[in-house]
Formats: sequence, structure tokens, C-alpha cells
Amino acid sequence: MNTPIALVTGGSRGIGRAIVVRLLEDGYQVVNFSRTPPEETLPGETFRSVDLGDAAATQAAARELAAQHPVLNLVNNAGMIQVANIEDVTQEELARTMALNIAAPLLLMQALLPGMRRAGYGRVVNIGSRAALGKGGRSVYGASKAGLAGMTRTWALELAGDGITVNTVAPGPVATELFNQSNPPGAPKTQALEASIPVGRVGRPEEVAHTVAMFLDPRAGFMTGQVLYVCGGMSVGLAG
Ligand code: NAP
Repeated sequence: MNTPIALVTGGSRGIGRAIVVRLLEDGYQVVNFSRTPPEETLPGETFRSVDLGDAAATQAAARELAAQHPVLNLVNNAGMIQVANIEDVTQEELARTMALNIAAPLLLMQALLPGMRRAGYGRVVNIGSRAALGKGGRSVYGASKAGLAGMTRTWALELAGDGITVNTVAPGPVATELFNQSNPPGAPKTQALEASIPVGRVGRPEEVAHTVAMFLDPRAGFMTGQVLYVCGGMSVGLAG
């Protein structure tokens, strides 16, 4: 059997890096689209520098990849966050966030879909966020991640007859650069957040990667259109 190929966006650090590492361990060849290369490109990994906020560049890179080989596994992980209260949200920030968090996944999906349809097989995982359920200061980010979950459900239904599954993995707080940027380590707000997580700690990138690997598994063909929260219980309620 051919080695499966997975395209992972934002695979140079944080959750995306853990996904790349896990998929390489699981025997995939991994193509990593990010702006900056990883500290070390691993055996089986191909890095391509792409600004996924730039629609033309994203489309060109994805079409070129799809012309080289069918890519039947897609993980839309790259994302950005800007924390701002309602009165401070700008249209520029809204457009920038939507370009990366919503438009890029759509462009990548459009480029890879013909190959998936020809193969009668595909696995797509979008990385959402628990913040889609509501969180202060997340007007734009929450909208983008709720939008991604909605798009997941539509794709799942449109592609259900093609052997293609589409799911969202929605992390709660996970210790990465992006998390630290909006939750500075040691800040009272960050400590309060950590105390509010039912399992009593923030998540690890590998724990999100594990769920992604589960959805990508060829044996996972009966799960589609789902949003799975990997959030230490935060999406469920308060522990005490
Ligand atoms: P991170 O540490 O900031 O990493 C983000 C990755 O995306 C980097 O590899 C970055 O690489 C890439 N990226 C950002 N902008 C890009 C662009 N314009 N073009 C190409 N690549 C770009 O973030 P993370 O915490 O691992 O988050 C990964 C995903 O999980 C995001 O979708 C995020 O919304 C979601 N999430 C994270 C948390 C959390 O607590 N960490 C919680 C819920 C959801 P370059 O900057 O080099 O391009």
C-alpha cells in the first residue's frame, strides 16, 4: 500500500508541530504549509513556506501540491487570534482572521477535493476552538471557529457519499505560543483560567494530535460532521 500523505497547515510549532510528529510516527508522509520552517525538518516531512492569509499564494501552493500527488488527508490547523472587546474590534482584524481561519481551509479543500473524489476517499480535520461556544474578547476568533464548525458540517454532508469524512477537533486551553500570547504565564487571569479547567491543568499539544490521528484513521469512516472538544472538560461545565 502507498504511504499516505497528509497536508498539515501551521505544522512548524505548537499544536500543528505535535500533529506533524504524530502523523510521521503513524507512517504518513507529511507536507507542512506554514510561513516559517520548523526548527528541524523531520524525515518524511516536506516544508513549504506559504502565507495562508494570502488567498492567491494559498491557492497556487495547494494546486501545485495536488498536481504532484493525490493528498487524501488534510488538517487545517493554522490559525490566529486577536483578543479585543467589542468596541475595539476592527474590520481589518476581522478580515485578516477570516482569511486565515476560514478562507484558507476552504481554498485548500477546493484544491484537494478532486483527488479525494477520484480516490473515493478522504479525511479532513479542521482545528476549531472551545471559544466557539463563547468567551469574552473573542468576537472575531469565536466567530471564525464557529464558522469553521459550520463549514465542517456542510462539507461532511456534501461529501458523505464520496468516502470523505470531515470533522472538527476543538481544543480548550493548550500550552503553545498562541495560548501564551493571550494568556501570559503567571498572570492572575491565566491562573484563574487554569483553576477553572475541570481536569486542573492546560492541555498538551500531543493530546490534540492524538484526537486528530483518530479522525484521520481509515477505520474512522462512520464519524463525520462532528465537533469533538479536547478541553479537559471545560465545554461540559464546572467541576465544583
Ligand atoms: P501557534 O503556536 O501560534 O502556531 C500557529 C501555527 O500556524 C504556526 O505554525 C504558524 O506558523 C502558523 N501560521 C500562523 N499564521 C499563518 C499564516 N498566515 N500562514 C501560514 N501559517 C501560519 O498556535 P497553536 O496554539 O498551536 O494553535 C493551532 C490551532 O489550534 C489554531 O487554529 C488555534 O486557533 C487552535 N487552538 C489553539 C488553542 C490553544 O490554547 N493553543 C486553543 C483552541 C484552539 P508561522 O507563524 O511560521 O506561519
